[in-house]
Amino acid sequence: MFIRPCEGRITSRYSSLRKHPITGEWKAHKGVDFGNDGSTIIKASEIGTVKRAEVIGGYGNTVIITHVLNGKNYETLYAHLKSISVKVGQTVIQGQHIGIKGTTGNSTGVHLHFEMHIPTYSEGQPNAVNPLHYIVDPAIEEIQKMLVMLDYRLNMDGIEGPSTEAAIKAFQETKGLVADGIVGDITLEALNNAVELKKEELRMAEPKLTPGQETIRQEAMRLKITNGNDPFKNVNQYYAWAVAVPIAQKVEELEKRILELEKKLA
Ligand SMILES: [Zn+2]
Repeated sequence: MFIRPCEGRITSRYSSLRKHPITGEWKAHKGVDFGNDGSTIIKASEIGTVKRAEVIGGYGNTVIITHVLNGKNYETLYAHLKSISVKVGQTVIQGQHIGIKGTTGNSTGVHLHFEMHIPTYSEGQPNAVNPLHYIVDPAIEEIQKMLVMLDYRLNMDGIEGPSTEAAIKAFQETKGLVADGIVGDITLEALNNAVELKKEELRMAEPKLTPGQETIRQEAMRLKITNGNDPFKNVNQYYAWAVAVPIAQKVEELEKRILELEKKLA
């Protein structure tokens, strides 16, 4: 999966229509802008090969990288760079420095204009897709896990993937929160509280297990603990799993595993 190409607040999103800051005309914005806060280092979003490293019209100093992931072709484009530190034909790994954020070309200030194309970039951006549906961010992954724990159904679909966005909006609505982005401090605090409550609920529910279910739970603990060299790690893994999976499903899964084990032993 792709990573954020640089630090900085998202100042303009991908859209099919927006008012251009210089010309004032309404035009599509086929990329994402990252503002001038944080480090100015620009990183390769995924492993790939540098296809272009030069001035490309209004993009200013630009790098285009070709990626092949699971047999699928992508290209990422990094525009308005102050300087470029890679050469055409060079292989770059994910996170490798490829240049410095700047304001070359048609630009009103220092920022990165970042585009993604499937399968390739060509003039007029006919193949552009919303990069935020493809970028994975550790902070967002954490939030996605919290939402799954709270029984929201979603795919791990990038910083602003449609299913993640829908789950966050549903959560904000349920809690009567002001929609403060993905995600603002208020939503994050509410999410943390909801997850803590959910954990507590599940802890309270545990003693209600039938003796048979309790045996299975113990068995699961035993299986996990004897499964590796770090007992604490295994207990934590079990715990995360136990919290994330509804109890009925948990019991069903365990019964299956025990049956399999018994077959093996027989
Ligand atoms: Zn832009």
